[in-house]
Amino acid sequence: MWMQRMFQQRVILMVVIIATLCVGMALGAGAAAAAEEVVIYTARHYGQESIFETFTKQTGIAIQSFDGSPAELFARLQAEGDKTPADVLISVNAGDLWNAAQAGLLAKIDSPELQANIPAHLRDADNRWFALTVRARTIMYNTHKVKPEELSTYEALGDPKWKNRLCLRSSNHTYNQSLLATMIKRYGEAKVETIVRGWVANNPTIISSDTRILESIAAGECDVGLTNSYYLGRLLAKDPNFPVAPFWTNQDTTGTHVNISGAGVTAHAKHRANAIKLIEFLARPEAQQKLVHDNFEYPANPKTPVHSILAKWGSFKQDDIDVAAASELQAAAVKLADRAGYK
Ligand code: FE
Repeated sequence: MWMQRMFQQRVILMVVIIATLCVGMALGAGAAAAAEEVVIYTARHYGQESIFETFTKQTGIAIQSFDGSPAELFARLQAEGDKTPADVLISVNAGDLWNAAQAGLLAKIDSPELQANIPAHLRDADNRWFALTVRARTIMYNTHKVKPEELSTYEALGDPKWKNRLCLRSSNHTYNQSLLATMIKRYGEAKVETIVRGWVANNPTIISSDTRILESIAAGECDVGLTNSYYLGRLLAKDPNFPVAPFWTNQDTTGTHVNISGAGVTAHAKHRANAIKLIEFLARPEAQQKLVHDNFEYPANPKTPVHSILAKWGSFKQDDIDVAAASELQAAAVKLADRAGYK
């Protein structure tokens, strides 16, 4: 009898020990999993989920991603201060990253790999953010009505030969504001105002969408316009005979205006090492190729092959002006457009 009782007690003891071990292991695993994560605030909403999955598979680091507009994410980071859960900020405009860095929301990243993969004009001078993709804003023309030899620069769109033939995005949109801001930075306000007055004198049709500008050019409602090149990539992917082509502007002078999407590590990141690992991963050619493939942007890492549609357009010289720092002139650009009568 007593032997049976002792046996029962031993079984209970073993069950308790095993149960304790199991709980301990589960807790340990849970703690390890919680440590291996990275939290992203992103204003970029497309084409990155599968890349994030690949990153998690390769590194074991889980990704939590929260979407928002640039203004929302900026306000949230500021309000949360050192309590922020965000480790990485991703944005779609150099000016937004510049603002975040100026406000002390981003920390320096010391990564020789990132510095080797992302050209100097596509990253912060203090390494607080790095470009991931590049979007070019250039002249688009109707291939039946315009010969590329007739085109040269943004400035030359003020030539009288383009009277009633020009389509422009309205000046209240950031795309042309950042183009004008970089021009002011380079030439000064007086010269840029003369250029814009030239555009206005050609009685441009003002359209509030890059895609609709391209459709208007294709329909012959205007012959030339200014848009971001990825919108044309999307239209050509649907219809290879879409009769519009890009002309790489200012190749003999400043180069074509580019803006970026990019990423930085937040000043109060709780998973700083993981955050750097993620940005390094996103800047490698394999991830770069996936990032740009569906929306026809250019990869920031020049070692990345481009989409076949973009390959047909040939390579071009990018304007290497500091587009982020030029964003301090955005307000001046708005006032200048107003003075020049550019709606
Ligand atoms: Fe866009």
